[in-house]
Amino acid sequence: MTTIADRLKLAQFRIAQAEQEHHRPHQSVNLLAVSKTKPVSDIIEAYQAGQRSFGENYVQEGQQKVIKLTPNYPDIEWHFIGPLQSNKTRIIAENFDWLHTVSREKIAQRLQEQRPADKPPLNVCIQVNISGEDSKAGVGLIEVAQLASAIAAMPNLRLRGIMAIPSQQANFDNITQAQAELSKEFSQLKACFDTLKQTYPQLDTLSMGMSDDLGLAIAHGSTMVRIGSAIFGAR
Ligand SMILES: *Cc1c(COP(=O)(O)O)cnc(C)c1O
Repeated sequence: MTTIADRLKLAQFRIAQAEQEHHRPHQSVNLLAVSKTKPVSDIIEAYQAGQRSFGENYVQEGQQKVIKLTPNYPDIEWHFIGPLQSNKTRIIAENFDWLHTVSREKIAQRLQEQRPADKPPLNVCIQVNISGEDSKAGVGLIEVAQLASAIAAMPNLRLRGIMAIPSQQANFDNITQAQAELSKEFSQLKACFDTLKQTYPQLDTLSMGMSDDLGLAIAHGSTMVRIGSAIFGAR
């Protein structure tokens, strides 16, 4: 039987292999362990195997886990990677270290106002809707610069980069077509990130790649892959 520790090691190995294959520096890609829907016992198991960054998708569930685990595991870095409505921003501002899904200035402004004074700035990524599907959250490529400039003026937020969820591979007729579309989307994201970095040199996070496409994402410059099922099992 494979354990969470085994699967974590395997995910780290896949990342290290992709870094080497695509001439990326060793440890230039961070692993975010996506623990949504999984019990705190799974998070503790991954923690004991050395993992420190965890991603959550649902506001209440994430808040409960942060409150439960912070007393004994204060060095966990909590990332919120799910959709966020404006009436829930306070929970994120008060409990999380990172938010990957900023796509409206109004949300950023609320987080700026609600971030507690005794905490460091909230690390944020702008979510980009790279597939162009109406159902997907995020701003279009041409809107990124404007939102970045608004966030950069907010002292309680620290702009770290961009995040995206690309097209589903299952939406394509065959694997070749799917890979071509994914490559195109990852390249556009990398170009967007590099352009933004010219204005904000401190940016360091291109959050893209999940269990099924981490190799391709790393080939295209991802600095943070978000892996759930490959570590914690199917949901
Ligand atoms: C669930 C989720 C992941 C992890 O997906 P897996 O397929 O389980 O690796 C990554 N990013 C986001 C935004 C998610 O919602």
